[in-house]
Amino acid sequence: MNKVFIQTYGCQMNVADSEEMFAQLAARGAVLTEQLDEADIVLINTCTVRDHAEHRAVSFLGRLASWKKEKPGRKIIFAGCAAQRLGNALQKKYPFLDILSGAKDIEHFSDTLDKSGLFGTPALPGRLPAPGLTGYVTIMRGCNFACSYCIVPSVRGAIKCLPPEDILQNVACKTAAGAKEIMLLGQTVNAYEKDGVSFADLLNRVSEVPGVERVRFTSPHPIYFTPDFLNAVKANPKIARHVHLPVQSGSSKVLQEMKRGYTREIFLEKIHALRDCGFNISTDIIVGFPTETEADFQQTLSLVDAVKFFIAYCYKYSPRQGTPAARMKLLPEKVLEERLDILLNKVRGFSDAAYQLQVGTHQEVLMETETKGRSSENFWVKTKKKYPVGSLVHTEIERADGTLLFARD
Ligand code: SF4
Repeated sequence: MNKVFIQTYGCQMNVADSEEMFAQLAARGAVLTEQLDEADIVLINTCTVRDHAEHRAVSFLGRLASWKKEKPGRKIIFAGCAAQRLGNALQKKYPFLDILSGAKDIEHFSDTLDKSGLFGTPALPGRLPAPGLTGYVTIMRGCNFACSYCIVPSVRGAIKCLPPEDILQNVACKTAAGAKEIMLLGQTVNAYEKDGVSFADLLNRVSEVPGVERVRFTSPHPIYFTPDFLNAVKANPKIARHVHLPVQSGSSKVLQEMKRGYTREIFLEKIHALRDCGFNISTDIIVGFPTETEADFQQTLSLVDAVKFFIAYCYKYSPRQGTPAARMKLLPEKVLEERLDILLNKVRGFSDAAYQLQVGTHQEVLMETETKGRSSENFWVKTKKKYPVGSLVHTEIERADGTLLFARD
């Protein structure tokens, strides 16, 4: 029986893709191992969003040359976004690599294994329930935007939505294995539309699958938060009231240069509508995009003042080779550092305040350990009593300390 060691780089979508690829290997009799030494197959699922992630994956591959020599018959699969971007050049540089499977081929991974003739034929259905309280389910791949700093569209291609029936089957498989919360995944997840089923319809259908207590999704794009979606949310308490909505800049001019597809005003309108439905909002912000002036940066600060994000992940702009923005002249590093510092100080204050605002509220907590769980709005909550893992606990928040809420019970 082949043992598979999996090394995943990147986002939750890659974690879900690794699960799917492993399911295809498991259908051919393989089992998982966490020990590289005892593995017969190494599956590296890669990310290329940042240079750093790609380098780490490629250098791990390079180190496997000696691992492969140690035992005849060992196999290496290099998959995902970096495999897509680097393509055959990688195979030439590392001839000991057995399978190269780009991000666009993941849904055909079973065929790729069959064509290689290295792993036998599948004896089981290629879907495995991954244990865990949260079941990650990819509902679409690719992106129809072309943000000027982002490599994703060129490696993942245009949007391809999975059929709703496949998604619901996958959800049922996850709940059968014990998942209580389903996280729907896609690069612009709320752009989902397939066979007449909208994203709002899909959320409702997923929440009706027996065993599903809560549904989350990531990453959405502001322009797809339609009235249809908001009505679906209002009527469905199983849809978690937290959304991670990257804004990237508070300046409409910079947003246009980034080709984000919305203005500051549109973003603020969407925030207003989401807050009306009770959503807690976190975001990503880039400082120091090449064309960002001091006045643009002040616009970002004023947007943060207006929205008061619960969490904002802030990054200094760094160019990604192969993107249009990589050809632009960079701002001095000192400017980037100063702006990042100012922004971080501001967002920290709002984050502390968001936790304090929860004191005295009543929350439904999905327990992830016996004494700790997450509220619908995605705050971590510590309980006094012990509760079964996976249970839903209704409680009042007594106090907040740092990034933790303390329940009365
Ligand atoms: S929306 Fe923009 S940043 Fe997000 S994946 Fe698509 S191109 Fe990249």
